Amino acid sequence: MALLQISEPGMSAAPHQHKLAIGIDLGTTNSLVATVRSGMSTVLQDQHGHALLPSIVHYGEAQQVIVGHEAKVKQNADPVNTIASVKRLMGRSLKDIVDKAHIPYRFVSPPSDDASQGMVLLDTRAGLKSPVEISAEILKTLKNRAQAALGGELTGAVITVPAYFDDAQRQATKDAARLAGLHVLRLLNEPTAAAVAYGLDNAAEGVYVIYDLGGGTFDVSILHLSKGIFEVLATNGDSALGGDDFDHRIYCWILDQIRDANPSKQPLSEKDTRLLLTKARQAKEWLTENEEAQITCKLSSAYTVDVTLTAAAFVELTENLVRKTLSPMRKAMRDASLDLTDIKGVVLVGGATRMPHVRQAVQDFFQQAPLTNLDPDKVVAIGAAIQANVLAGNRSGDDLLLLDVTPLSLGLETMGGLVEKVIPRNSTLPVARAQDFTTFKDGQTAMSIHVLQGERDLVSACRSLARFELRGIPPMAAGAARIRVTFQVDADGLLSVSAREETKGVEASISVKPSYGLNEDAIIDMLKSSFSEAESDKKARALAEAKVDAMGIISAIHIALEQDGHLLNAVEKEAISKHIKALETALAGEQSRAIHDATAALNTATEAFAAKRMDESVSRALAGKNIDEVNL
Ligand code: ADP
Ligand code: MG
Repeated sequence: MALLQISEPGMSAAPHQHKLAIGIDLGTTNSLVATVRSGMSTVLQDQHGHALLPSIVHYGEAQQVIVGHEAKVKQNADPVNTIASVKRLMGRSLKDIVDKAHIPYRFVSPPSDDASQGMVLLDTRAGLKSPVEISAEILKTLKNRAQAALGGELTGAVITVPAYFDDAQRQATKDAARLAGLHVLRLLNEPTAAAVAYGLDNAAEGVYVIYDLGGGTFDVSILHLSKGIFEVLATNGDSALGGDDFDHRIYCWILDQIRDANPSKQPLSEKDTRLLLTKARQAKEWLTENEEAQITCKLSSAYTVDVTLTAAAFVELTENLVRKTLSPMRKAMRDASLDLTDIKGVVLVGGATRMPHVRQAVQDFFQQAPLTNLDPDKVVAIGAAIQANVLAGNRSGDDLLLLDVTPLSLGLETMGGLVEKVIPRNSTLPVARAQDFTTFKDGQTAMSIHVLQGERDLVSACRSLARFELRGIPPMAAGAARIRVTFQVDADGLLSVSAREETKGVEASISVKPSYGLNEDAIIDMLKSSFSEAESDKKARALAEAKVDAMGIISAIHIALEQDGHLLNAVEKEAISKHIKALETALAGEQSRAIHDATAALNTATEAFAAKRMDESVSRALAGKNIDEVNL
């Protein structure tokens, strides 16, 4: 039994109320949490007014776990138990970590049957810790900060990851969130989050470059925006280049100054190195807004450092670091086959892009001023918060961000082996749409709902996702029953379809994961064939529709002949049955034109019969009644 569509009442939004949702930028150097309150995105601060949480976890005495600024302080004294830049270890096995010599941690390879799936472990005072567990401590701290600030249970979080993160790294990030007791609404690419923060998803279609210079990493991503969806065209970067290298240049410069002033110098202690690196970072950040920086401190040898670094000298010291970012940009542009004129806009991300000479270099490269009006170290968290707010269902209708979408249309089978699309491809998630269908036959009490995915018009050319039956429809004339079928896809892409008969309220439903088993290539193939087969699909749809129409008319005429055949003489009957035969012959073929013509001929041939039936029913109604009683 199949279906016949009768009307399309449009969208029905899922009901919602304001939910607490957060966006988290889980960074290599710093992490942040943001939310949208009264339509405004805000980065949440800790009780000391810090927005940035250093991504550092310290395992202290007596099972104490310290995260952030206080952990950073321990780095010097207890490097083995103070884990920084854990993001670099996410989803990585021991053999993936090439630069072990420069990392002070005690790495351990996990036993082969370990749940960490081969991910490296760190031997700390608190026992063996996986990068997932360490990241979870950072996420927990941010979660607690958010709950304290927002005063309630969180619905969920959007967590950002670099665009180049592979499945293992993404899964590790999700696992960390789960371990921290966070419901992950979505992982979002960092460059996409930055673009969302700038509202580019509402901007003109085109290509945008995201230049992200953080503490220890440089990432460039080229995004193509089309109908609100960002596609990553290319990524490139340098995983060992960031703001820390600028600090290091200043540190080396200070050492030179000390050497010049005090040739008989003593070796620096570890603590001195740490102190000078901190002073160097402060000087670097100061020089972003000032012409010169005074660097003063006392070393363990009681020697006092007191030097002045000008902005011009700093630029000179670090010019080649800035230049080092150009080659990954060129490569990304080449990979995406783009010219500079193709670039609509450039977004700066990462604290290190605050430096004026970095900005200038980007501007010179792209020959346009980059977008800078948001804080570059907060922009990713802000974008994540905006996305979280949407996914939690706090915005509706046209406001929806077209970010994560149904890759293919979802629909159901109707009469003639055709697919009626209920949720079109590229619909933003979550989405809910309802459509009304009716029965095809008189007295039909069950309906088979066949859920399909794809762009083509024919059931045979789409992917079958699920089938279920709605039973218990009260027997009615064909077309009288109203069956509302609702398709709902939640933020994780889980589809549920329900069907409800409106008068008796019988219901049936099913859930499916539409993306399951479909990889990117399969989706692209299905889309390509929908374009290349569009013409033949149109013909097939026309044919199927003509057949459904014709069969409906033949069946109606048979019923009419049974009821009122006495109104016709033999010649008239013969004429009608000749036309029915002609239409049946046309139906056996594949020519929609021929079916149309034969249907039209049958309609004309039965016009007189229809008029006679009308007269007959009017006189039946009028029989024995006085004219006042008749409500014509
Ligand atoms: P990540 O994405 O790696 O976690 P961030 O985006 O937080 O890193 O960037 C951290 C880097 O930004 C550090 O090297 C920090 O010194 C640098 N930074 C922050 N503020 C400034 C500033 N005002 N001027 C120059 N560099 C800055
Ligand atoms: Mg970052």
